[in-house]
Amino acid sequence: MEELNPYHIAQLQFDRAAERLRLERWLRDMLRVPDRTLSVEFPVKMDNGDIRMFTGYRVQHNNSRGPYKGGVRYSPEMNLDEVRALATWMTWKTAVVDIPFGGAKGGVVCDPSTLSQAELERITRRYTYEISDIIGPELDIPAPDVNTTPQMMAWMVDTYSMGKRHSEFGVATGKPTFLGGSHGRLEATGRGVALTAMNALADLKLNPQKVTAAVQGYGNVGSQAARSLREFGVKIVGVSDSSCALCDPEGLDLAEIDQHVAAHPRHLLENYTKALVLPERNELLEMECDLLVPAALENQLTAKNAGRVQAKLIVEGANGPTTPGADDIFQKRDILVVPDILANAGGVTVSYYEWVQNIQREQWSFREVVEKLDAKMNTSYAPVRDLARREGVDLRTAAYMIAIGRVAESTRTRGVFP
Ligand code: GLU
Repeated sequence: MEELNPYHIAQLQFDRAAERLRLERWLRDMLRVPDRTLSVEFPVKMDNGDIRMFTGYRVQHNNSRGPYKGGVRYSPEMNLDEVRALATWMTWKTAVVDIPFGGAKGGVVCDPSTLSQAELERITRRYTYEISDIIGPELDIPAPDVNTTPQMMAWMVDTYSMGKRHSEFGVATGKPTFLGGSHGRLEATGRGVALTAMNALADLKLNPQKVTAAVQGYGNVGSQAARSLREFGVKIVGVSDSSCALCDPEGLDLAEIDQHVAAHPRHLLENYTKALVLPERNELLEMECDLLVPAALENQLTAKNAGRVQAKLIVEGANGPTTPGADDIFQKRDILVVPDILANAGGVTVSYYEWVQNIQREQWSFREVVEKLDAKMNTSYAPVRDLARREGVDLRTAAYMIAIGRVAESTRTRGVFP
């Protein structure tokens, strides 16, 4: 049976790269596990007067290079090992693009589609209160992730600030732009994915104007990745979300799809009538296209379906969409995979810019942020590709080697306390 536990997968990916780096035993033992794991159980008053218990987590993986950093996810299936994996991936992500942060992740086990705004607000506030001892602008900085929004970041900032008795905008990123948020943050992850795809297409000597792409996931990351790819000349032939998969070999009309999604009560693609609907939504991963962007959840490309993927290039918008078993198959089949920690690092990169703006009490223009983001994504790609070529490894292993090398160097140089 294939290993599908994300934490075990994250450790396996780490081990592969650590082995290549000949990392010291103590650093391997230290960096393959999170520094701190907090699990909280808390009551929340529901709209009907009932009181329900919720479980929340915050996992801090490493802070050798700067404050812990990473999103908060709301999902009914979430468990501690998933959060541990996501926290670990954040450490490598901030290191591979060389921003001065560590890695963390958190979340609440809940299904937001069954909760009212008022209930979500009370859950967010109580969760923030429960983890408030271990977060802070210099300590650990949450951000949005799956099913969390700028509004929720505003509630987190407000709750934390009430405890401190002054406003602390730097305690979370991904806030609304009028409340200390950064211009360009909403677009950053998807735009970064598209920019990375452009770099990889150039390596493969493929002309974006002649490239077709399919995008799995039409949330914040997937929809923006599709829009940016379109802007760069790529034809989007398939998109999917939790409700269905749409395709059109002639190219989908994204503006029309966006209008449909905005008007849909749960912001889904279902009932859109101007494209073909695939019988099974996961067929999108195997459809005819040059570029595949998995931008939904973990474990979508596995040893089971990797042999049927038709794309020549996979750029990971989601965290952990490809299993190690699928990676091996893609490498044998000469399908290039640009790993999550590099491809989707645009989000946390602009989170860093947001945090810098908060500390300096500044607000940069959209153009300034996007120029910085583009430069960061472009300069982060080449060293990974070059190392992969030199070492004869896939891009994931190369990205891990660069990231682990940076964290190891900081840790070694700081030394061990006491
Ligand atoms: N949740 C995003 C990620 O997985 C962004 C994290 C952040 O901005 O801190 O990269």
